Amino acid sequence: MLTAPARTEQLAARAARVMPGGVSSPVRALRAVGDGPLFVDRGRGSRLFDAEGAALIDYVCSWGAAIAGHAHPLVIESVERAVRDGLGFGASTRIEVELAEEIADRVPGIERVRFVCSGTEAVMSAVRLARAATQRDLIVKFEGCYHGHSDALLAAAGSGLATLGLPGSPGVPQAAARDTIVLPFNDQSRLEAIFDELGERIACIILEPIAGNMGVVPAGPAFLLAARRLTDEHGALLIFDEVMTGFRVARGGAQERLGVRADLVTLGKVIGGGLPVGAYAGRASLMDLVAPAGPVYQAGTLAGNPVAVAAGLATLRLLDNRAYEQLEAMGQLLQHGLVDGCARRRIEAHVERVGSMISIFFGIHAPPRSYAQVRAADHESFAAFFRAMRARGVLLPPSGFESWFVSLAHDRSAIAGTLDAAANALQALECSLAAPVPQGSES
Ligand SMILES: *Cc1c(COP(=O)(O)O)cnc(C)c1O
Repeated sequence: MLTAPARTEQLAARAARVMPGGVSSPVRALRAVGDGPLFVDRGRGSRLFDAEGAALIDYVCSWGAAIAGHAHPLVIESVERAVRDGLGFGASTRIEVELAEEIADRVPGIERVRFVCSGTEAVMSAVRLARAATQRDLIVKFEGCYHGHSDALLAAAGSGLATLGLPGSPGVPQAAARDTIVLPFNDQSRLEAIFDELGERIACIILEPIAGNMGVVPAGPAFLLAARRLTDEHGALLIFDEVMTGFRVARGGAQERLGVRADLVTLGKVIGGGLPVGAYAGRASLMDLVAPAGPVYQAGTLAGNPVAVAAGLATLRLLDNRAYEQLEAMGQLLQHGLVDGCARRRIEAHVERVGSMISIFFGIHAPPRSYAQVRAADHESFAAFFRAMRARGVLLPPSGFESWFVSLAHDRSAIAGTLDAAANALQALECSLAAPVPQGSES
């Protein structure tokens, strides 16, 4: 698909003239998979329609936010009702209280919710709160976990045992990265060693309890329990970044699914149903440190926007126990079909899945449990698979370091269509899938 059809090509040329890389967020440029540009005209259910009018079964789903499917009638109706009353007031509204109540009702341990406008802001603010509450500066994060693009969380691992962070991007000051310790995901002994050495200076551990930003890589139960125990023993806080997993993997989020309680939780994506909403939340004694209840400053002109929270609330109301059963069933159908398809073609691959989060790692058999193991997968074959699937009417996330998302609109026929395309794409790939060529990430 390197020669993009006419309308797409024109849009891409215009975009490239006025926007860096022609996009508003890097991964949309499809560079990691070496494909031509994509412009979306509209979405309906499990499908997108591109600028040429071609339909694509969509597994990006607005990076998981569109869990109800695109343009779900009840979500659209709720947004339309909110829009007619005005787009925002810079003042409190009833509907944001309802969304906060819904979140608190679903997640044990959440007593207070503060709305922001993105996942990045949610994490940045939760880390500020953790530092204020503990009066400590150091934070611990893990390789391959993404927590938005704020300075302190764009740290990359330095070398050595005490893996103090180095700036992960030009423009991130040394000082901002220095207080971030970056460790390998799922490495309990490294985590214990760091707490032995620096435990009294650590404000918090932040992690994705089911990582979805290096492909799907769940945290192991022992590792999670160690994180809980170490933070408890050393007076630090445990932050679950559930911007992706929140209300995707269970009614109460990953905490419910995994049975481990965090002190603070960050949310985004699903709670906005496709519009910009983020939140951080936790028990009252912590959250009441946030202004104006307490001294930790954090504010937002558009925070709790009534149209955005209307979309989020309507989306959450669709997510009852039956909805999660359906997501699980359709996720499983997709996973089994992909495993079968690979086996039939003797293509070595591992298909990882938690609920409706899925990813495929070519060229490896054992489930990857760290970023290093994910990097060792064959990302060139993923890129070829992406292109072959797009050519057959299926849009995957444009990188082997991302999760696919199944929505409530992905019914049996959408999954069957996907698996037909996959059987075909895998057949086309069979010859080219010889020696794995590891390659880096771009997100
Ligand atoms: C998407 C994501 C973020 C960042 O959210 P934005 O809304 O893109 O700022 C943070 N953490 C996790 C786990 C995410 O998946």
